[in-house]
Amino acid sequence: MSNGTEQSKAWFERAKAAVPGGVNSPVRAFNSVGGTPRFMVRGEGPHLWDADGNRYVDLVSSWGPMILGHAHPRVVEAAREAASSGLSFGTPTIGEVELAEEIIGRVEPVEQVRLVNSGTEATMSAIRLARGFTGRSKIVKFAGCYHGHVDALLAQAGSGVATLGLPTSPGVTGAQAADTIVLPYNDLDAVRKSFADNPGEIAAVITEAAAGNMGAIAPDEGFNAGLREIAHENGALLVMDEVMTGFRVSSAGWFGLEGVAGDLYTFGKVMSGGLPAAAFGGRADVMAKLAPGGPVYQAGTLSGNPVAVAAGLATLRAADHAVYATLDANAKRLGDLFRRELSAAGVENHVQYAGNLVSVFFGDQPVRDYAGAQASETWRYPAFFHALLDAGVYGPPSAYEAWFVNAAMDDDAFSVIEAALPAAARAAAEAVK
Ligand SMILES: *Cc1c(COP(=O)(O)O)cnc(C)c1O
Repeated sequence: MSNGTEQSKAWFERAKAAVPGGVNSPVRAFNSVGGTPRFMVRGEGPHLWDADGNRYVDLVSSWGPMILGHAHPRVVEAAREAASSGLSFGTPTIGEVELAEEIIGRVEPVEQVRLVNSGTEATMSAIRLARGFTGRSKIVKFAGCYHGHVDALLAQAGSGVATLGLPTSPGVTGAQAADTIVLPYNDLDAVRKSFADNPGEIAAVITEAAAGNMGAIAPDEGFNAGLREIAHENGALLVMDEVMTGFRVSSAGWFGLEGVAGDLYTFGKVMSGGLPAAAFGGRADVMAKLAPGGPVYQAGTLSGNPVAVAAGLATLRAADHAVYATLDANAKRLGDLFRRELSAAGVENHVQYAGNLVSVFFGDQPVRDYAGAQASETWRYPAFFHALLDAGVYGPPSAYEAWFVNAAMDDDAFSVIEAALPAAARAAAEAVK
């Protein structure tokens, strides 16, 4: 690394004194890969720069939102323009309606949406609504799926919960967890059995439309359709969590690739272009139960914030067919490079895709569920990650996270990745358990 990491190290020490673990979201702390988290000061296109002046090709893209790359001129201009007209009013605004219409126009099963501030809030609210609509308590979720840090959904969750190896979280009460049924991903028989075992009690099945928080694991053919069928046979709702896949894997998210309609949807990440906004939505008859029209309460002081909405709208409007084609091509190009270089170094690997989400699992088995992800050779990952980081490639600091390409990646960015990979693959080969 040309400029060293002194500044990041110094800031991390200061951060640890002021903020628990030095970070505001756990995976950022590098706990599972070791070393010093980089304090980023600037992003432009496919690149990030840290406080020491090192440049990185960014393959995290803020965990998904930055599909256009960093500081895209149209998005920055839209946010600047909105900000100069006032930051928040606590009243209805025109932009909120336009963003809601943009989402509804893209994802056919979504007839109405409510804007919130984070993906966590979206899933929390969707579940409350599903419970309120059905009058039932229990929720089915899948091991390794992450739906934000909602109490009831933290059981065997993916993302940072998987990274830190936590079964669940202290502070979630037995009562909150008791209504959550956790099943293996891609296992329809387990879903059928749990409905049989809990007749008339399950309000909803919530699933990531394609799993992206235990690495990228696409649903088996027929899995989502099977969930829909089983849920409906039993009077329950299907909640499709598209916080990660929504507006990233296609203009209509995973729904656009697969066409299986959920009853409720959750969105975040891409839809707000890097600012804090998210949404939940779906069938109009279900959404009608929300306050103020219905009895299920949900609210937010900053919901539909004008600056976040402007950034989101600008992002979605700029994300045309060419952007999605570029994202897909970049994902394939990245995955091909992983496979080629790891195989050349003698590392058994499975490069997996869920749309343009990419994962590399070390080991001889493809991965279909959380048990499979945990059984992969994740101990090779820290060496692989740090060799890339040292060569200016910023990947996810966890073996359980997907790699996120953006449409600003150019040949120069790929040449940095290509130059970095042989040494990273050797480091993965030489890693010891
Ligand atoms: C990121 C994510 C969330 C949580 O969103 P936050 O904005 O981090 O609260 C929920 N569901 C999925 C599938 C996600 O990837």
